Amino acid sequence: MFLHHRPSPGSGDIPQSVTVGDTTLRVLFLEKRVRNINLRLVGDELRVSAPRGVPPGRVSRAIVEAAASLLRRRAGRQGRGKHFASGPGALLEEARRVAARFPDPPEVEGVEYTDRQVACWGTYSRATRRIRLAAVVGHMPAWVREAVLAHELTHTVHFDHGPEFRALLQRVCPDTLRAREFLRGVQWATDALRDPGSGAGELLLRRASGERPTDPSWPEAFPG
Ligand SMILES: [Zn+2]
Repeated sequence: MFLHHRPSPGSGDIPQSVTVGDTTLRVLFLEKRVRNINLRLVGDELRVSAPRGVPPGRVSRAIVEAAASLLRRRAGRQGRGKHFASGPGALLEEARRVAARFPDPPEVEGVEYTDRQVACWGTYSRATRRIRLAAVVGHMPAWVREAVLAHELTHTVHFDHGPEFRALLQRVCPDTLRAREFLRGVQWATDALRDPGSGAGELLLRRASGERPTDPSWPEAFPG
């Protein structure tokens, strides 16, 4: 499926914009070979394509119907994004569940998120028996968060990251290497965004804005 930014012969009859509540969306008609009327919300642009021969009146009705539901769905997603996937109460339970996997389960007095911690994903204080996690870990998949908790709890037994540390961590958290690669990817993207000269940060921001390649020779998507 390829995008062409040529106006369709009938696009003059399709509204240029649609307003729902206090939000106005620009309507961009894309001539695209499709089987059904397709509507996609990208920023404040509603991208529409329709099979040849569909009357403009039907496309217009579909635009009006879809605009409201697409905006509602987006509001729902953003609402969820503001909350931690794992709030502070659930986090303590998570940490205790992970602690219970240890041959000699360490005590966890408390776990908290902090956004002041930028250099590492988590810390454990032997003095207070408290774990602190970088706030962003609260938004990551549960298996990654568990691996960070397992790492910190393993420090209750071993100070360093030597072979004994690694063996125990692997035992209590079989996903530990996968989580490490996940976090390396996050770190890579973070570094790229911090360094505007690298070019990668700029490309990531363009991806985040929803831009898609318009060159028909590009494969549709990877991974599919
Ligand atoms: Zn460590």
